Amino acid sequence: MRTAVLEAPRRFGIAERPIPQAGPGEVVVRIAATAVCHTDLSIYTGDHPGVRYPVVLGHEATGTVETLGEGVRGLSAGLHAIINPIIACGRCDMCRRGAGNLCRNAGLMGREVEGSLNQYLKLDARYVYALPPALPLPDATLIETLATVRHAQERIGLKAGESVVVLGQGTTGLLHTRLAVLAGADPVIAVTRTRWKLDLASRYGAHHALETGAEKAVDEVRRLTGGAGADVVIDTAGGAATLMAAMDMLRPGGRLSPYAVSHECCAQFTTFPLYYKEVSIIGSRALIPEDMQPAIDLVASGKIDVSDFVSATYPLERTAEALAEYEANPGKILRIVIDSGA
Ligand SMILES: [Zn+2]
Ligand SMILES: [Zn+2]
Repeated sequence: MRTAVLEAPRRFGIAERPIPQAGPGEVVVRIAATAVCHTDLSIYTGDHPGVRYPVVLGHEATGTVETLGEGVRGLSAGLHAIINPIIACGRCDMCRRGAGNLCRNAGLMGREVEGSLNQYLKLDARYVYALPPALPLPDATLIETLATVRHAQERIGLKAGESVVVLGQGTTGLLHTRLAVLAGADPVIAVTRTRWKLDLASRYGAHHALETGAEKAVDEVRRLTGGAGADVVIDTAGGAATLMAAMDMLRPGGRLSPYAVSHECCAQFTTFPLYYKEVSIIGSRALIPEDMQPAIDLVASGKIDVSDFVSATYPLERTAEALAEYEANPGKILRIVIDSGA
């Protein structure tokens, strides 16, 4: 089989490797599609802390169950499947609390553990989830992202009738907008500088779509919430300026989800607004297994349409071009998908 290996930042090679064999409790998945996200981009550019190269990227992956090892139940050869890429030990204190996403020995497939830019991938059966056959496998890669978005909203504890602002309307912003609408939040206010993303946000049910940056949206959010400010702000844009704007647009007692991962230092940050407005900041990391099936069901039922997210598809052999394109035009792309061609 062929594997795309990131040998060093911005340097891919294609390697020939033997097809893996499933051991007891394991499954080999014939990979169909892998979506590339900001995490992959930061590993590609060398900006992701703690990554050891060479690395095989890929954690948003779908495919077909190829072979099953001894003792695997509930899956069968030929099934369409999606992978949960959050590797957890199952033994540490966090795993025992049901927070495998915070596992002390955690790994992400495609970072610490071999990823899916491969034609076949062997993994423990507990990381493989069956998909309905009608769902196109490239679109279904978005379910992994949706599961992380769902994880954040479960932690936020969104209630019907609450006002929600979603800053940024890239892939995760749009999924947050849609999920908030489905949770009965009202109004859901989508904020982005990009017109075509606003159109998508409106299509996903945002009650208001503001074509502006976060800082300029503060007054409008106050107006749209009757002067109160928002109950919840979800920041999918990241960075210091949006974080401070997010604090400004919250009502007293509001909740902030800094969903986007940012390494940018926020020099203006003080704890005063946390005290004065009694703001809760709710972190969220990746997903837990319990997020996977609800995310699959949301897409399978048609409540969340993921058919608009794939901006371009590249064959495995052209992975280097795909990542270069993503780095050059991050704002124009929702998801690039790599077709493993297996
Ligand atoms: Zn990702
Ligand atoms: Zn653990």
